Amino acid sequence: MSGEIKFFDQVNAHFDRAAAYTKHPKGLLEQIRECNSVYRMAFPIEKDDGSIEVILAWRAEHSQHKLPTKGGIRYDWRVNEDEVKALSALMTYKCAMVDVPFGGAKGGVRIDRRKYSESELERITRRYTYELFRKGFIGPAVDVPAPDYGTGPKEMSWIADTYQALTQEDVNGLGCVTGKPIAQGGVRGRKEATGRGVYFGTREACSHAGDMAKLGLSTGIEGKTVVIQGLGNVGYYAAKFFSEAGARLVGLAEYEGAIHDPNGLDIEKVMAHRAETKSILDFPGAKNLAKTSDALELECDILIPAALENQITEENCDRVRAKIVGEAANGPTTAAASERLYQRGIMVIPDMYLNAGGVTVSYFEWLKNLSHVRFGRMEKRFEERAYRKLLQAVQNMTGKTLTEDEIRGFASGPSEEDLVNSGLEETMVTSYERIREKRAEHGDRPDLRTAAFIVAIDMIAVTYGDLGIFP
Ligand code: NAD
Repeated sequence: MSGEIKFFDQVNAHFDRAAAYTKHPKGLLEQIRECNSVYRMAFPIEKDDGSIEVILAWRAEHSQHKLPTKGGIRYDWRVNEDEVKALSALMTYKCAMVDVPFGGAKGGVRIDRRKYSESELERITRRYTYELFRKGFIGPAVDVPAPDYGTGPKEMSWIADTYQALTQEDVNGLGCVTGKPIAQGGVRGRKEATGRGVYFGTREACSHAGDMAKLGLSTGIEGKTVVIQGLGNVGYYAAKFFSEAGARLVGLAEYEGAIHDPNGLDIEKVMAHRAETKSILDFPGAKNLAKTSDALELECDILIPAALENQITEENCDRVRAKIVGEAANGPTTAAASERLYQRGIMVIPDMYLNAGGVTVSYFEWLKNLSHVRFGRMEKRFEERAYRKLLQAVQNMTGKTLTEDEIRGFASGPSEEDLVNSGLEETMVTSYERIREKRAEHGDRPDLRTAAFIVAIDMIAVTYGDLGIFP
């Protein structure tokens, strides 16, 4: 599917729509839109049977207006240059949108990871890192990868280890990649961050009574029906947080098929069923759908595509029956389909905002690596003591006595995970307000995506102004 629709053209169509609302010079807009550097590589790896296979891979740095550049690495057999460039552009706009001080980048390795053993995957990852290093496409101050579709903490730890072996003198070497396991310099909360951000962002969108009334919905997440496509890192955690907030999961889709149950699906039980049977199909009490993509057409309040790009297209967008489409994946809706959904009164919460939780917490991980100290280590005990003193003063004044359990409940200082989640929530809440304010500035004419792009373009333009490159 991604071969038929040029993904970078889709991103640029969104960009152009937003740029028309701004007054920036044409040359500046062209510079922002262009993908600055692309490194295409081919390298050999030895397979377990001793044969040699040549692997194709890319790294695109869309914009270096802020350094380092930042963006995930995707392992998928469909990876191509157009896709990597499009995803790197989305990273530029995403970082600007949520005020994370990075330029945009993205990497991709064209492999079907299911066809490789763990040791082969390790050799591919280490060789890819070496190629990036040789050409100056990785480093804590240059370009910092992260997980994306088909990669996770294990690949990130191989990248960090390879980079550190090549740069023994670099005291900040661990900051060359984010999404690492905690023991290898990761930060607590990163694994769940994108899905948690999807939840926070949707919750914000659902908190405005006027916006919800236009959709015929009440405010809040509780009681809303949700369909999720893709149960990987992003989709699974989004499903978990929506369920915990009282939403009802009525449809779930994976690449092998889709299931529907209007009474609600228990995400943990579905995952356990999939682990046992290798499929979400035939889940007790649920109905199997004929095609995976049928899940996108189920009636629901919130549809969360969390798999890949170009899933909602001109071909199927008129059959979408959700009231809100929350783009957890990158580029799940084509530009034309997005416009059509808007005309039909469906709210689309755009990817560049909604899935920005991952890069936000990656930013926190990078800061942790550069500061060489765990968040909360300096202040946790100090704050606990201050709260205890305050509680003692309140007890003295009121004559009431609290139990030690109650005091501990009120007076515990923040852990690293508390601080990370609070920083993530703050980012998602304030960024949504910025999108709404921008939309209001333009008489509520642009949709949320266009408004988010305008925010991003304005932010990047200011940086170019600060650099003195454009008047
Ligand atoms: P993942 O590899 O962990 O999971 C993706 C899941 O989608 C897999 O389980 C896969 O089997 C499933 N899938 C593939 N094709 C499908 C289809 N047609 N229908 C239903 N399911 C399908 O990947 P991820 O990290 O969760 O990334 C998913 C999306 O979110 C991608 O677009 C990625 O770019 C985006 N994203 C990821 C992060 C992150 O932190 N991982 C951050 C921002 C955006």
